[in-house]
Amino acid sequence: MTAQLDLATVLLLHKSSFLIGAFCFLYARWQSPRDEGLGILASGFLFLALASTLAGYGEQKLLPPTLWRLSSFTLGIGGYALFWIGVRRLSGGRRRLADWLALLVPLAGALIGLATDFHVVNVVRASVFNAAAFLFLAASAVAVIADRSNESLPARAMLAAAMAVGAGLCLAVVIGLLKPGIVPITTTYPFFLSIICHFAIALFALVLVKERAEAELRRSADTDALTGVGNRRWFLAQLPQASWQGDCLLVMDLDHFKRINDRYGHHTGDQVLVAFADLVRKNLRRGDSFARLGGEEFGLYLPRTSETQAFAIAERLRRAVEELRVVSNGQSVAVSISIGVATASGTERSWEELFNRADAALYAAKRGGRNRVASDAELADSKPLAVSLHRAG
Ligand code: GH3
Ligand code: MG
Ligand code: MG
Repeated sequence: MTAQLDLATVLLLHKSSFLIGAFCFLYARWQSPRDEGLGILASGFLFLALASTLAGYGEQKLLPPTLWRLSSFTLGIGGYALFWIGVRRLSGGRRRLADWLALLVPLAGALIGLATDFHVVNVVRASVFNAAAFLFLAASAVAVIADRSNESLPARAMLAAAMAVGAGLCLAVVIGLLKPGIVPITTTYPFFLSIICHFAIALFALVLVKERAEAELRRSADTDALTGVGNRRWFLAQLPQASWQGDCLLVMDLDHFKRINDRYGHHTGDQVLVAFADLVRKNLRRGDSFARLGGEEFGLYLPRTSETQAFAIAERLRRAVEELRVVSNGQSVAVSISIGVATASGTERSWEELFNRADAALYAAKRGGRNRVASDAELADSKPLAVSLHRAG
């Protein structure tokens, strides 16, 4: 089956594809709380729609050549330059002033056109235009892929692929124009294929925005807003399905925290929580998980760690917190923690069991006078409160 592509229809669809893309970008920009380059992408597509409209009317002899040749050429390359600036901002959040220098490309093209009239020759004008489009599209695809290491979103590959296909199409047109023997190019097919690319680019750019918003939502759902460490939900998700022998769970609770709030104020209390969380975060090993379980209670999961090692880690943290001084409102605030350590035997039915044992050890540490580490290690012979209490000398 062969499709008959009528040039006038294809040209109409060509400019429509830019217009629809531009409106989608504008809508997404309007809905988005941040500027992610969507406004620039919309203006790039609007420039391209205008260029395509002028060229379309010109090709159908509805406009005199002086009115459309150089203007559509300049607007079109300007549109691709804006597109590249927008993609760089969307992809990597770049806001470099130097990016705007890309607009010198269409400006230089227009000036050279005025000086030399090169644009009057259709093949030359179309070749230069498509070569510029190829460069901007290829550079956009590279930017989207290069930013993958900072933010890996699945839509990146699809967006880069759509831009790479668009770039390849422009390159094929250049080769077809200069060497018709190598790439036989009809007028309508490149237009038709580029329409599909424009839709794909707009679609995957918006999918990327959506994936980014979802990732941020997931991150904030897992993060404690005050301290920036994981929350209880995140902590539970870090734990494996079942405990292994040697997995350790530490439950830490700031001592007499209510008194800190009462004496220095709630804001200072908040600063103490943040300073404590930062201190622990800096002392984690790879693979450890630390989270705020609620209020002034924190959890630390140490996978495959011996009881002695877990105890030493807890003791080191306890001592570091004891030495911590939080300066707030010109006052130096001291704080201490109590820690309950529970070591898994690997036979627990659920993590709740290990949490209960760590809580029991914490309770014992509190009863023992606070600023202590207590372990449940000696509970094994079913003496519920026979926890070992250790106090730093
Ligand atoms: P203990 O040594 O027995 O743990 O005594 P405590 O005072 O630390 O424990 P208690 O449970 O009596 O009080 C905990 C306090 O922590 C009460 C609550 O107002 C405070 N708190 C909980 N969340 C926050 C918070 O986000 N910021 C501040 N500033 N205080 C908080
Ligand atoms: Mg407390
Ligand atoms: Mg508490």
